[in-house]
Amino acid sequence: MSDKPILFISDLHLEPDRPDISQAFFDFLEAKASNAQALYILGDFFNVWLGDDVHTELSDQVARHLHALSAQGVTIKLMRGNRDFLMGGGYAQTCGAELIEEPYLLTAFNKKVLLMHGDVLCTKDTDYMAFRKMVRNPDWQKDFLARSVEERIAYAAEARKQSQAMSSNKADDIMDVTPEAVTDIIQAYAIDTLIHGHTHRPKVHELANGRDTRMVLGDWDKVAWYISWDQQQLALHYLNPHSSV
Ligand code: MN
Repeated sequence: MSDKPILFISDLHLEPDRPDISQAFFDFLEAKASNAQALYILGDFFNVWLGDDVHTELSDQVARHLHALSAQGVTIKLMRGNRDFLMGGGYAQTCGAELIEEPYLLTAFNKKVLLMHGDVLCTKDTDYMAFRKMVRNPDWQKDFLARSVEERIAYAAEARKQSQAMSSNKADDIMDVTPEAVTDIIQAYAIDTLIHGHTHRPKVHELANGRDTRMVLGDWDKVAWYISWDQQQLALHYLNPHSSV
Protein backbone atom coordinates (compact mmCIF):
# COMPACT_ATOMS: atom_id res chain seq x y z
CA MET A 1 0.00 0.00 0.00
CA SER A 2 1.30 3.36 -1.03
CA ASP A 3 1.94 5.96 1.65
CA LYS A 4 1.28 8.77 -0.83
CA PRO A 5 -1.81 10.89 -0.10
CA ILE A 6 -5.28 10.40 -1.54
CA LEU A 7 -6.89 13.64 -2.72
CA PHE A 8 -10.55 14.61 -2.99
CA ILE A 9 -12.09 17.50 -4.92
CA SER A 10 -15.60 18.40 -6.07
CA ASP A 11 -17.72 21.21 -7.48
CA LEU A 12 -15.22 22.70 -9.90
CA HIS A 13 -18.15 23.49 -12.19
CA LEU A 14 -15.79 23.57 -15.16
CA GLU A 15 -17.17 25.60 -18.04
CA PRO A 16 -15.72 27.39 -21.06
CA ASP A 17 -16.56 30.81 -19.55
CA ARG A 18 -14.26 30.19 -16.58
CA PRO A 19 -10.80 29.47 -18.02
CA ASP A 20 -9.35 30.54 -14.65
CA ILE A 21 -10.93 27.49 -12.99
CA SER A 22 -9.70 25.11 -15.69
CA GLN A 23 -6.22 26.57 -15.26
CA ALA A 24 -6.41 26.22 -11.48
CA PHE A 25 -7.37 22.58 -12.03
CA PHE A 26 -4.44 21.91 -14.37
CA ASP A 27 -2.11 23.60 -11.88
CA PHE A 28 -3.56 21.47 -9.08
CA LEU A 29 -2.93 18.29 -11.08
CA GLU A 30 0.69 19.23 -11.56
CA ALA A 31 1.41 20.59 -8.09
CA LYS A 32 -0.64 18.21 -5.95
CA ALA A 33 -2.27 15.30 -7.74
CA SER A 34 0.91 14.15 -9.48
CA ASN A 35 2.33 13.36 -6.01
CA ALA A 36 -0.79 11.50 -4.88
CA GLN A 37 -1.72 7.82 -5.16
CA ALA A 38 -5.30 8.64 -6.12
CA LEU A 39 -7.58 11.52 -7.03
CA TYR A 40 -11.32 11.32 -6.31
CA ILE A 41 -13.52 13.84 -8.11
CA LEU A 42 -16.83 13.87 -6.24
CA GLY A 43 -19.26 15.40 -8.69
CA ASP A 44 -20.16 18.67 -10.37
CA PHE A 45 -16.77 18.48 -12.03
CA PHE A 46 -18.42 20.06 -15.07
CA ASN A 47 -21.06 22.74 -14.76
CA VAL A 48 -23.21 20.94 -17.29
CA TRP A 49 -22.93 17.56 -18.99
CA LEU A 50 -25.26 16.74 -21.86
CA GLY A 51 -23.92 13.29 -22.69
CA ASP A 52 -20.56 11.71 -23.46
CA ASP A 53 -21.25 12.19 -27.18
CA VAL A 54 -21.21 15.98 -26.77
CA HIS A 55 -17.51 16.83 -26.93
CA THR A 56 -16.26 20.30 -26.19
CA GLU A 57 -12.77 21.71 -26.44
CA LEU A 58 -12.79 21.92 -22.65
CA SER A 59 -13.93 18.33 -22.04
CA ASP A 60 -11.26 17.07 -24.44
CA GLN A 61 -8.58 19.19 -22.81
CA VAL A 62 -9.56 18.00 -19.33
CA ALA A 63 -9.52 14.38 -20.54
CA ARG A 64 -6.00 14.81 -21.91
CA HIS A 65 -4.72 16.22 -18.61
CA LEU A 66 -6.36 13.48 -16.57
CA HIS A 67 -5.16 10.79 -18.92
CA ALA A 68 -1.59 12.05 -18.56
CA LEU A 69 -1.97 11.92 -14.78
CA SER A 70 -3.30 8.38 -14.96
CA ALA A 71 -0.36 7.41 -17.19
CA GLN A 72 1.92 8.55 -14.33
CA GLY A 73 0.28 5.88 -12.16
CA VAL A 74 -2.26 8.00 -10.28
CA THR A 75 -5.65 6.30 -9.79
CA ILE A 76 -8.53 8.56 -10.84
CA LYS A 77 -12.16 8.03 -9.84
CA LEU A 78 -15.08 10.12 -11.03
CA MET A 79 -18.42 10.39 -9.21
CA ARG A 80 -21.36 12.15 -10.82
CA GLY A 81 -22.97 15.19 -9.24
CA ASN A 82 -26.32 16.85 -9.88
CA ARG A 83 -24.85 18.93 -12.73
CA ASP A 84 -22.98 16.16 -14.51
CA PHE A 85 -25.22 13.20 -13.65
CA LEU A 86 -25.24 12.19 -17.34
CA MET A 87 -21.51 11.56 -17.38
CA GLY A 88 -20.84 8.03 -18.53
CA GLY A 89 -18.15 5.41 -18.47
CA GLY A 90 -17.10 6.44 -21.98
CA TYR A 91 -15.84 9.83 -20.90
CA ALA A 92 -14.26 8.37 -17.76
CA GLN A 93 -12.35 5.95 -19.95
CA THR A 94 -10.93 8.74 -22.13
CA CYS A 95 -9.70 10.31 -18.87
CA GLY A 96 -8.01 7.09 -17.78
CA ALA A 97 -10.48 7.15 -14.89
CA GLU A 98 -13.16 4.93 -13.45
CA LEU A 99 -16.72 6.08 -12.85
CA ILE A 100 -17.89 5.27 -9.31
CA GLU A 101 -21.39 5.19 -7.84
CA GLU A 102 -22.37 6.93 -4.63
CA PRO A 103 -22.17 6.31 -1.80
CA TYR A 104 -18.68 4.92 -2.28
CA LEU A 105 -16.93 3.22 0.61
CA LEU A 106 -13.18 3.75 0.48
CA THR A 107 -10.75 1.89 2.69
CA ALA A 108 -7.19 3.17 3.04
CA PHE A 109 -4.65 3.81 5.80
CA ASN A 110 -6.50 1.27 8.02
CA LYS A 111 -9.65 3.36 8.00
CA LYS A 112 -12.90 3.65 6.06
CA VAL A 113 -14.47 6.81 4.71
CA LEU A 114 -17.74 7.22 2.84
CA LEU A 115 -17.79 9.43 -0.27
CA MET A 116 -20.84 11.17 -1.72
CA HIS A 117 -21.62 14.13 -3.91
CA GLY A 118 -24.04 15.33 -1.23
CA ASP A 119 -27.26 16.25 -3.00
CA VAL A 120 -29.10 13.17 -1.69
CA LEU A 121 -28.46 14.41 1.86
CA CYS A 122 -30.49 17.57 1.21
CA THR A 123 -33.75 15.74 1.86
CA LYS A 124 -35.75 18.85 2.81
CA ASP A 125 -35.48 20.13 -0.73
CA THR A 126 -38.47 18.11 -1.88
CA ASP A 127 -38.75 19.77 -5.33
CA TYR A 128 -35.18 18.85 -6.07
CA MET A 129 -35.57 15.31 -4.72
CA ALA A 130 -38.51 14.79 -7.10
CA PHE A 131 -36.49 16.18 -10.02
CA ARG A 132 -33.54 13.97 -9.08
CA LYS A 133 -35.73 10.89 -8.99
CA MET A 134 -36.96 11.67 -12.49
CA VAL A 135 -33.59 12.36 -14.11
CA ARG A 136 -31.82 9.45 -12.45
CA ASN A 137 -34.33 7.05 -13.97
CA PRO A 138 -32.56 4.99 -16.67
CA ASP A 139 -35.56 5.30 -19.04
CA TRP A 140 -35.59 9.08 -18.72
CA GLN A 141 -31.84 9.20 -19.37
CA LYS A 142 -32.11 6.94 -22.40
CA ASP A 143 -34.84 9.13 -23.83
CA PHE A 144 -32.93 12.33 -23.09
CA LEU A 145 -29.67 11.09 -24.61
CA ALA A 146 -31.56 10.07 -27.77
CA ARG A 147 -32.55 13.71 -28.37
CA SER A 148 -30.54 16.04 -30.58
CA VAL A 149 -27.76 18.06 -28.97
CA GLU A 150 -29.74 21.27 -29.61
CA GLU A 151 -32.76 19.88 -27.78
CA ARG A 152 -30.59 18.77 -24.88
CA ILE A 153 -29.00 22.23 -24.61
CA ALA A 154 -32.43 23.88 -24.60
CA TYR A 155 -33.76 21.50 -21.96
CA ALA A 156 -30.73 22.02 -19.70
CA ALA A 157 -31.01 25.82 -19.96
CA GLU A 158 -34.70 25.67 -19.01
CA ALA A 159 -34.07 23.27 -16.10
CA ARG A 160 -31.31 25.53 -14.81
CA LYS A 161 -33.56 28.60 -14.96
CA GLN A 162 -36.30 26.79 -13.04
CA SER A 163 -33.87 25.48 -10.46
CA GLN A 164 -32.43 28.97 -9.87
CA ALA A 165 -35.91 30.45 -9.53
CA MET A 166 -36.85 27.78 -6.98
CA SER A 167 -33.58 28.03 -5.03
CA SER A 168 -33.86 31.77 -4.54
CA ASN A 169 -37.08 31.28 -2.54
CA LYS A 170 -35.79 28.52 -0.33
CA ALA A 171 -34.70 28.84 3.27
CA ASP A 172 -31.03 28.36 4.00
CA ASP A 173 -31.44 25.08 5.90
CA ILE A 174 -33.38 23.50 3.03
CA MET A 175 -30.37 23.99 0.78
CA ASP A 176 -28.05 22.29 3.27
CA VAL A 177 -27.84 18.66 4.32
CA THR A 178 -30.44 17.29 6.73
CA PRO A 179 -28.69 16.22 9.98
CA GLU A 180 -30.84 13.06 10.21
CA ALA A 181 -29.84 12.02 6.67
CA VAL A 182 -26.18 12.35 7.69
CA THR A 183 -26.65 10.31 10.86
CA ASP A 184 -28.60 7.64 8.97
CA ILE A 185 -25.96 7.09 6.32
CA ILE A 186 -23.09 7.12 8.82
CA GLN A 187 -24.88 4.40 10.81
CA ALA A 188 -25.88 2.39 7.74
CA TYR A 189 -22.27 2.16 6.56
CA ALA A 190 -20.75 1.91 10.04
CA ILE A 191 -18.19 4.62 9.32
CA ASP A 192 -17.08 7.64 11.30
CA THR A 193 -16.07 9.91 8.43
CA LEU A 194 -18.22 11.20 5.59
CA ILE A 195 -16.79 13.34 2.78
CA HIS A 196 -19.07 15.23 0.40
CA GLY A 197 -19.40 18.40 -1.64
CA HIS A 198 -22.43 19.98 -3.32
CA THR A 199 -23.49 22.50 -0.68
CA HIS A 200 -20.57 24.89 -1.30
CA ARG A 201 -20.13 25.17 2.46
CA PRO A 202 -16.57 23.92 2.99
CA LYS A 203 -16.06 22.92 6.59
CA VAL A 204 -15.06 20.07 8.88
CA HIS A 205 -18.00 19.31 11.16
CA GLU A 206 -17.49 17.31 14.34
CA LEU A 207 -20.89 15.72 14.90
CA ALA A 208 -22.81 15.99 18.15
CA ASN A 209 -22.00 12.41 19.20
CA GLY A 210 -18.35 13.47 19.56
CA ARG A 211 -17.21 10.57 17.40
CA ASP A 212 -18.16 11.21 13.78
CA THR A 213 -16.89 13.76 11.30
CA ARG A 214 -18.49 15.26 8.20
CA MET A 215 -16.01 16.91 5.86
CA VAL A 216 -17.46 19.23 3.24
CA LEU A 217 -15.49 20.18 0.15
CA GLY A 218 -15.92 23.66 -1.31
CA ASP A 219 -16.65 24.80 -4.83
CA TRP A 220 -13.82 26.16 -6.94
CA ASP A 221 -14.62 29.79 -7.42
CA LYS A 222 -12.17 32.11 -5.71
CA VAL A 223 -10.05 29.37 -4.22
CA ALA A 224 -9.45 25.70 -5.00
CA TRP A 225 -10.67 23.41 -2.19
CA TYR A 226 -9.39 19.91 -1.64
CA ILE A 227 -9.12 17.26 1.06
CA SER A 228 -5.95 15.26 1.50
CA TRP A 229 -5.68 11.97 3.34
CA ASP A 230 -2.48 10.29 4.40
CA GLN A 231 -1.13 8.16 7.28
CA GLN A 232 -1.26 11.16 9.60
CA GLN A 233 -4.54 12.86 8.88
CA LEU A 234 -7.52 13.82 6.80
CA ALA A 235 -7.57 17.57 6.26
CA LEU A 236 -9.43 20.22 4.31
CA HIS A 237 -7.25 22.73 2.44
CA TYR A 238 -7.51 25.44 -0.14
CA LEU A 239 -5.17 26.96 -2.65
CA ASN A 240 -5.38 30.47 -3.95
CA PRO A 241 -5.08 30.06 -7.71
CA HIS A 242 -3.88 33.63 -8.05
CA SER A 243 -0.76 32.95 -6.08
CA SER A 244 1.72 30.27 -7.07
CA VAL A 245 1.04 26.84 -5.57
MN1 MN B 1 -23.91 19.67 -6.68
